[in-house]
Amino acid sequence: MSEILVLVEHVEGQVKKVTLELLTLARKLGTPSAVWAGEGYSPDAQAKLAEYGAEKIYVADAAEIGDYVVAPKAELLAQLVSEKSPAAVFVAATAEAKEIAGRLAIKIDSGVLTDAVGMEDGLLADQSIFGGGVNVHSRVTKGTPIVAVRPNATPIEAAAGAGAEERVTVDVSDAAKGARVVERVKQEKGARPELTEASIVVSGGRGVGSAENFAVIEALADSLGAAVGASRAVTDAGWYPHQFQVGQTGKTVSPQLYIAAGISGAIQHRAGMQTAKTIIAINKDSEAPIFELADFGVVGDLHQVVPQLTEEITKR
Ligand code: FAD
Repeated sequence: MSEILVLVEHVEGQVKKVTLELLTLARKLGTPSAVWAGEGYSPDAQAKLAEYGAEKIYVADAAEIGDYVVAPKAELLAQLVSEKSPAAVFVAATAEAKEIAGRLAIKIDSGVLTDAVGMEDGLLADQSIFGGGVNVHSRVTKGTPIVAVRPNATPIEAAAGAGAEERVTVDVSDAAKGARVVERVKQEKGARPELTEASIVVSGGRGVGSAENFAVIEALADSLGAAVGASRAVTDAGWYPHQFQVGQTGKTVSPQLYIAAGISGAIQHRAGMQTAKTIIAINKDSEAPIFELADFGVVGDLHQVVPQLTEEITKR
């Protein structure tokens, strides 16, 4: 079967879940080869990638690949495409990887499909566009297809691959050294999963009422092992940090379960969450647009409903 390159997303040497999703997807269409760019590669990372089906792992862990922003990774992938002639390149539909995909397409004279939520035979991508309002089936018609796949769109399945390691050296060009990483600041992170990777997200909107009241949302999230999200009304008011904003100008999430409490369901918020598998809305206004989208709805005051829900879940 033909080789599909999968660009590994990793943080502090840990392979991110979206990479396992990409490997799972690639396995359905060909033979996945993982591409590790930047420092942090380890036997643990190798084992993880092999566990999810990577037959080969191309390792380019020179410091300068991660030291410069985006461009060296595009050069690495372009080099691999030219040497290995893969059937396709899969990256995660994250801000960084989408930029890498665009640069790579220019280098190898091909096309990019972004925000894929599924792939079919013949490398036909199911793209979720216009904030999830429309699905389009598209195919790259020129060169090696590059596909940016949305996190959480593919259920992961382990299936052992050989995980054969191959070292790759890249001469990073001066042109790719335009922007350098100066510092990496670790964000305060509790025990909660990362927002874009979480399988459950509990989000609060203006209806929560204040920064202090967000404890109610956090308690429900913790009872479910979920990530916390927020609407823009909340982040603009300074009730919750911007990095947790879901929507057009925030993060896009596709969890198994999305609970929206005190969120009206504006189009810009929907853009970031409407591909969630199941949506539960809690809102005191039965006419709130979020109910048009929700699979289950509770019309009521979130300050009563959410603590009761948390209590029930915690009991079980
Ligand atoms: P509101 O619309 O004010 O809704 C609050 C809801 O809470 C209401 O439905 C109300 O009935 C309910 N409520 C009130 N009290 C309670 C209670 N006690 N119990 C239960 N329910 C209660 N928004 C985003 O979220 N993300 C984005 O990325 C984003 N990007 C934008 C980009 C642009 C260019 C623009 C113009 C807007 C963007 N917005 C975004 C803003 C968006 O249009 C909405 O203004 C915003 O989503 C509203 O947030 P909200 O639902 O929390 O607040």
